Amino acid sequence: MTLSLPELEDTYRQRFPKSAALYERAGEVFVDGVTHDTRRVLPYPIYVERAQGSRKWDVDGNELVDWVSGHGALLLGHNHPTVIEAAQKQLAKGTHYGAGHEAEIRWGEWVKKLVPSAESVRFTSSGTEATLLALRIARAATGRTHVIKFAGHFHGWHDYTMRGRGASSDRVAGVPEQVDATVSLLSPEIGAVAETVAANDDVAAVIVEPSGAAWGTAPLKAGFLQELRELTASKGIVLIFDEVVTGFRWAPGGVQELSGVIPDITTLAKILAGGLPGGAVAGRADLMETLAWIRSQEKPSRKIPHYGTFNANPLSAAAGAACLEIVADGVPQERADATALELRRGLSGVLQELELPGFVYGDSSTFHIVLGRGTGADGEKADRGEMDDDGLLLAPYTRAALALQQAMLVEGVHLFNMGGLVSSVHSPEDVEKTVDAFRRSLPVVEPLL
Ligand code: PLP
Repeated sequence: MTLSLPELEDTYRQRFPKSAALYERAGEVFVDGVTHDTRRVLPYPIYVERAQGSRKWDVDGNELVDWVSGHGALLLGHNHPTVIEAAQKQLAKGTHYGAGHEAEIRWGEWVKKLVPSAESVRFTSSGTEATLLALRIARAATGRTHVIKFAGHFHGWHDYTMRGRGASSDRVAGVPEQVDATVSLLSPEIGAVAETVAANDDVAAVIVEPSGAAWGTAPLKAGFLQELRELTASKGIVLIFDEVVTGFRWAPGGVQELSGVIPDITTLAKILAGGLPGGAVAGRADLMETLAWIRSQEKPSRKIPHYGTFNANPLSAAAGAACLEIVADGVPQERADATALELRRGLSGVLQELELPGFVYGDSSTFHIVLGRGTGADGEKADRGEMDDDGLLLAPYTRAALALQQAMLVEGVHLFNMGGLVSSVHSPEDVEKTVDAFRRSLPVVEPLL
């Protein structure tokens, strides 16, 4: 029997009562009761007690197939034994030395070995810090100020890149107009970039998610990265690939390894640190030299100051180095990619079977679901970067999308917005469970399509 929408909410409340109580408590402590904007779920989010492999268990004892995968950080799934062992051994030896340590070198060596553009590395504590530092390096190295970023592309939450994340291009509360004035928000079209750099010789950097906006929610057109590479090289503009999601996932060396397009600077986080906090900027040695102490001896303003209490902390370094060693051969990525392909096919099949408008697409080990418009063939069009970007970026925020997330949770499946990131330990059973859950959930949300 298909639930009506009000029944769906009642069922949700019956299934997750302890989460409701925790959410009420959280509301006394946190704004909106949450600690990250995307964790806000209606009518309230679930609270998780433990996780293992591809699954997690909430405080009400419900077992959930987890496609959030640590916001993409857990390519190896929850608690990979080698990563956990490395972290546990390190935990017993100390979590902060206020000094260098061998694990940070090993970690950095893995980054250099795997990421083609990484001639030199500097660790940060998050992806946001990594993109902030990358832009500062580009500006210091070129002596220019302006930055180009693309509509919908997400680079963390600092002032320079917040505008134009997701579907909105509105100004962001709290970000000074003067900061916005240094950033051009463009469509990911080479003509738009060419026009902007022709009119402005003060462009220091172009920053791009090489998967397309929001981990491939709006894929790029074929050839765009290569065109961007040629244009930026011809103008002495620093090309930054933000591989915070794609790094180590699309391939051990990220999108740059797959595409052969090598940026000047790469930003990394998520998989980099094996499930613990961590980020990195890696790139051309001459650009990274802007961090060098010797420069301040020549002229204090020549050196970029860079601090960070938890940069390359021993715990993240130990877990990160262990994780990168495992993903270096590309086998976990192949497994995750194959599972993602099966999942995309299964979900697409359900839409066809039920004759409902919508499509499923995604690159590498990701999947994205659009409901209410289009058919299966549009999934392929989306993958080729030929669907309208705004529609794709808005898809996770429709009423149908929010209801689907709720219905899927009731069915024991946790989506990440309208899709997810697949790990190397997601199984055919996880795929089957998710496809079945989708088959039962779609009729519930059908009135909203
Ligand atoms: N860049 C991209 C492409 C991201 O997806 C994210 C986070 O999701 C960030 C940067 C920011 O990373 P963090 O959340 O570690 O600050």
